[in-house]
Amino acid sequence: MKVVLIGVGQAGGKVTQALAEFDYEMGFGAVQGAFAVNTARTDLQELEIDTMLVGQDRVKGHGVGGDNELGAEIMQDESTEVMDELGQRITTDVEAVFIVAGLGGGTGSGGAPALANELNRVYDVPIYTLGILPGRDEGSIYQANAGRSLKTVVRESDSALLIDNDAWRESGESVEEGFEKINEQIARRVGLLLASGEAVEGVGESVVDSSEIINTLREGGMACMGYATAEASEDAGENINTITSLTRNALLTKMSLPDAVEAQAALLVIAGDPDRISRKGVERARKWVEEETGSLQVRGGDFPLASERLGALVLLGGVERSRRVEEFMERAREAQDNAPQGDAKAVFENEDLDDLF
Ligand code: GDP
Repeated sequence: MKVVLIGVGQAGGKVTQALAEFDYEMGFGAVQGAFAVNTARTDLQELEIDTMLVGQDRVKGHGVGGDNELGAEIMQDESTEVMDELGQRITTDVEAVFIVAGLGGGTGSGGAPALANELNRVYDVPIYTLGILPGRDEGSIYQANAGRSLKTVVRESDSALLIDNDAWRESGESVEEGFEKINEQIARRVGLLLASGEAVEGVGESVVDSSEIINTLREGGMACMGYATAEASEDAGENINTITSLTRNALLTKMSLPDAVEAQAALLVIAGDPDRISRKGVERARKWVEEETGSLQVRGGDFPLASERLGALVLLGGVERSRRVEEFMERAREAQDNAPQGDAKAVFENEDLDDLF
């Protein structure tokens, strides 16, 4: 799937760069353009992709300090300039735009939904948000910001692909220590998802098409994904169980939004050497995904890759409220309740988080 990525805020810029680098190094060509917008000059200086500083007149290049209302206002005020920059990159080949942002901060958290709204007014292609949720140990301002932003992001984007910062973190690592590694994990997994929708010449009909990703995300709301790999035999016939257990592993333990299993639609992509992919294994794995997600819309396909390993990539669209999402919303509510009275930056608008879904 040919995409343009736009990172908003610090996390957004770093993850966008990691994704663009992965796509480039692998030679996939799914990422057609990558661009970062921020209110903080120093964050942009660390990036090698094209960047744009916004809100200079209001925050003088120093960032919005976690104030996501200010982040949203700046994006709205400067949307013409941002849209001009983006317009040069969103060519007719582009099939979707991904806005990438950490939802716990200020610039990305407020700016991403504001930008999604603008983009949706102008472009026909789907506008997705790749949203990063704060991990359990992050402070209450992050939780509160993310709770409020999530609601708006879900409303303004065609789908919000969510990644919990705890999901792919290695044990024993603090969130901060782990950022670089988490970003690599995000880049590899989301990068493969985007690339899986790229046509591969000379391979059979089961190859995934961009439209299958788009259709899986068509339900809107929240989406999440998981990926697991394992050694595989050279003989496809011996890989039936490998494929079914990889699929279980991806869906049950490796999701970007842990415990999210019920969904309106799913896509199962088996990546690897076509000679090692067992059709029977794929069929069984797909049936299992249908049962597990409760969805009758389970799409599937292969992603031919020169590797001795096989990988299972699961994308869920229209994810139901899971225990993990409940837990996150609970943290966001607590952060709201504990916010100092009158602190405009920390207090939620009087919105009900429960009507998110
Ligand atoms: P902004 O620049 O105001 O949009 O704020 P940030 O992008 O720093 O957003 C803060 C949130 O993003 C927090 O929940 C952080 O944990 C998270 N975050 C910051 N940097 C990174 C990063 O490099 N990777 C990941 N995965 N999360 C990050």
